[in-house]
Amino acid sequence: PEVEAFEQEVAAYCGAKYAIGVSSGTDALLIALMAAGIGKGDEVITTPYSFIATATSISRVGAIPVFIDIDPKTYTIDPKAIADEITDATKAIMPVHLFGQCAEMKPILDLAKQRNMLVMEDAAQAIGAGQNGVKAGTMGAFGCFSFFPSKNLGGFGDGGLVTTNDDAFAQRVKELRQHGGKDKYRNVMIGINGRLDALQAAVLRVKLKHLDAWSAARREHAEYYTQALQAVKGVQTPITAPGNTHIYNQYVLRVERRDELQAHLNAHQIGNAIYYPIPIHLQECYDILGYQETDFPAAEQAAAETIALPVYPELTRAQQDYVIETIQAFSRS
Ligand SMILES: *Cc1c(COP(=O)(O)O)cnc(C)c1O
Repeated sequence: PEVEAFEQEVAAYCGAKYAIGVSSGTDALLIALMAAGIGKGDEVITTPYSFIATATSISRVGAIPVFIDIDPKTYTIDPKAIADEITDATKAIMPVHLFGQCAEMKPILDLAKQRNMLVMEDAAQAIGAGQNGVKAGTMGAFGCFSFFPSKNLGGFGDGGLVTTNDDAFAQRVKELRQHGGKDKYRNVMIGINGRLDALQAAVLRVKLKHLDAWSAARREHAEYYTQALQAVKGVQTPITAPGNTHIYNQYVLRVERRDELQAHLNAHQIGNAIYYPIPIHLQECYDILGYQETDFPAAEQAAAETIALPVYPELTRAQQDYVIETIQAFSRS
């Protein structure tokens, strides 16, 4: 009952017809791809600048991730580059709403419609984010969410969820998360053990009530950082595209001397992280695809220049001032 109640609450929150709890964000992607019937020989267009699970879920169903470079301003997939990569094998586009802001969806949705492809949104970092009044995860055929503790809505362990407005897809997702079972011991598809634990659902139901307030606090912190840091030499503050409501799962600076800044922040005991130091096309596990350095210059440059600052809701002004002063001092050094 906790899982069902949570699913109804998230469906209402996102404005999706169905929300189906699953075991993680990775399994949300995997199950959505399985439900879409994507598999061997198929291609899925996605971004090389994301968490590895975006691409590996595509590979896990036997399909091939085809990478497209990012927009260097928003770090999300560059829609202008997609059309050139579509082949007869392309079945879907998987944009990632990275750091908590939506990829530019209109051209992606238009192209998908024209070319008969599905759009599968990796909304793992973007629960509650919006674009022109529509919530992340409800624009494509599927929205895939994660409740890993580092996300804006985090459980006490792993958890995930798939949204869809399609009756048949919803039915398949429900079956696939439960070993492809129609009922307990009658299996119509080859599924996985992909359920959301009731314990996690119970925790997430409590936290969901606070989600908007927490994301608003993150947004305030982000504005405060940006006010103070936009004038700092060698530092580029985050850019929100018009129409987007950013939920700042991460507040990410672009800094030429990034590695030096990271050492400086570490020396001053300021938490920070690099999302992501190696773009996916250059990961060893994807040697097999034959990509090379310089294939996606914007993604590669982002991997070399970005760094995330603390932006969690409970952060205090005094803590933010300390972060800001430490970065200002660095820029003068
Ligand atoms: C976190 C994340 C995932 C995977 O979610 P898990 O719950 O950790 O399996 C997938 N894609 C992106 C973009 C993520 O940030």
